[in-house]
Amino acid sequence: MQPNQPPSLLADFKESCKVCEGSGRKLGYLEIDTLQPHLSQKCFHCQGRGYTLTQLGEDLLELYRPAIQQWIREELSRLGTR
Ligand SMILES: [Zn+2]
Repeated sequence: MQPNQPPSLLADFKESCKVCEGSGRKLGYLEIDTLQPHLSQKCFHCQGRGYTLTQLGEDLLELYRPAIQQWIREELSRLGTR
């Protein structure tokens, strides 16, 4: 956590990707030892998001996943009945 960033609740749950340093892009090769061309240029570590979840963030996501899926289903059916 850099000292010049404002305190944020989200900072406890996600952190800037160490591989691409938050840019979400990574040029070069997917894996050095197999030399697969990395054509998408997305960072392979964070899938281009630029951040990764902390352990706390992953735990929280796992905890809330059923509730979030239920919420999405309700929202979709609500939109579908309009
Ligand atoms: Zn990354």
